[in-house]
Amino acid sequence: MQYNKKEKRGDAMKVYSGKAVFHGIAVGQVRMIKKEERRVFKNHIEDTEQEIARVLKAVEETEKQLKALYDKAVPEVGKSGAAIFEGHRMMMRDQDYQMFIQNTIRTRRVNAEYAVAVTADHFAGMFAGMQDAYMKERASDVRDVSKRLLSVLAEKDQEEVHADVPTIIVAEDLSPSETVQIDKRNVRSFVTRYGSSNSHTAILAGTMNVPALIGIDYDDDIDGRPAIVDGFQGELIVDPEPAVLAEYEKRAAEEEEKRRLLQELKGKKTVTQGGKEIRLYANIGGISDLQAVIQNDAEGIGLFRSEFLYLEKDDYPTEEEQFQVYRSVAEAMEGKTVIIRTLDIGADKRIDYFGLEQEDNPAMGCRAIRICLRRPDIFKTQLRALYRAGVYGRIGIMFPMIISVQEVRRIKEIAEEVRRELRDNNIVYGEAELGIMIETPAAVMISEELAKEVDFFSIGTNDLTQYTLAIDRQNAQLEDIYDARHPAILRMIQMVIDNGHKGGAWVGICGALGADPELTDRFIEMGIDELSVSPSAILPIRKKVREYV
Ligand code: PEP
Ligand code: MG
Repeated sequence: MQYNKKEKRGDAMKVYSGKAVFHGIAVGQVRMIKKEERRVFKNHIEDTEQEIARVLKAVEETEKQLKALYDKAVPEVGKSGAAIFEGHRMMMRDQDYQMFIQNTIRTRRVNAEYAVAVTADHFAGMFAGMQDAYMKERASDVRDVSKRLLSVLAEKDQEEVHADVPTIIVAEDLSPSETVQIDKRNVRSFVTRYGSSNSHTAILAGTMNVPALIGIDYDDDIDGRPAIVDGFQGELIVDPEPAVLAEYEKRAAEEEEKRRLLQELKGKKTVTQGGKEIRLYANIGGISDLQAVIQNDAEGIGLFRSEFLYLEKDDYPTEEEQFQVYRSVAEAMEGKTVIIRTLDIGADKRIDYFGLEQEDNPAMGCRAIRICLRRPDIFKTQLRALYRAGVYGRIGIMFPMIISVQEVRRIKEIAEEVRRELRDNNIVYGEAELGIMIETPAAVMISEELAKEVDFFSIGTNDLTQYTLAIDRQNAQLEDIYDARHPAILRMIQMVIDNGHKGGAWVGICGALGADPELTDRFIEMGIDELSVSPSAILPIRKKVREYV
């Protein structure tokens, strides 16, 4: 974790630096949430079966509490956000977890509280030791649900936190139960000493649209002090000087007004004054981004970078694992388009277990579709999972790094083979639109021929800029001349749109340039059909499109 505590600007004012995980400005009073220290004592127990009966009764009561928390969380953070409590319930009911508690009581002849604490340590340690960032986070879930179980055993309720004035919640870390128990009407920001961008606090902040900071090494005497959260600089400013406070109050009001205006665009169409509709989709890297997608009212998903599924693991994800993820995304989007890009590794995204050879120039090496066509086993596993998920929503499949018509024809043959095998094995699958990324100059130049082969194009301006300008997109030294707005790129986009339409394919942009608000008008004039942008850019781009005359 990166942070450095520093004091600057004046005597009383203190500025703590950390990392912003959700942007914005907040002004309020610090409310520190201290972890309740409840020591668990170890007692010798004669009647172990009676002790186990106590646990079972507490599990039932805890289940009721979790159900109530779920019902409370649904209106606050939606069904997918509230699902954490359903997850806790399942975790607590898990056979291994239950057996561990019961075996501890029976074999060590100890009290229920001690057995639950030992079990929590065991499973939290196991999760914390996992590679996968998502699984690591489950350590805090197992602690959270065990703590609740301990409170029930102690017959003590976990308390609600009330906030009567604009409040900045400051804590070591916040568990989902703790966040649900905060009365959020006056909460303006969350600040934690620990936690990660994947943590529940970060997700909640995103849903509530308030700034959040992590890695803030605050002092314990700041409770109740007036403070500012600068969610752009990643700073917590305690006891601000009057001039600083005035400046931030002005900025907070401006931000609030901007946000209010953008929120009004939720549920509205992305349509120009002249009536041309643009499909405004979101880019995601995994399930954890879905909440932001729904919260920002995206009309679909235009790029799901599926390689993150592979990057998070230390072995190939199975067909079943992939299917579950694609299915969840399709279901969460409730019939809206979900375009999943097949594996795009190589270049800057390396995965050890693929055993790829070292290359002198990996950006131009064996990456993306080149790997899939050389390793059809991996490719077909992913395609099977994708087609099967097609039953649960409207799936589109998109292939990266295309340079030739032959590649596309080969891909289509493999896709047909996969469908045939699913049919022959009586496995249900759905149809999917097929598209390609246009991110190499070669694909641009032959886009007229490519358009006849596929349903859609999605222009990957990040790589297209790299390959067109011959500038490694990772090279910080050349950042000043890596210019995605270069006339060469803009002319290529025009060419791809025209050729796509000629060949009957719809055309979108999923590279970062698609979210450049200064180019929205230009793209509309060029005839773009779809823009796929990060969730936070959805509403600002909708605003631009709706203003276009
Ligand atoms: C692109 O290249 O523009 C793109 C969207 O793909 P990625 O950034 O994942 O390479
Ligand atoms: Mg790319």
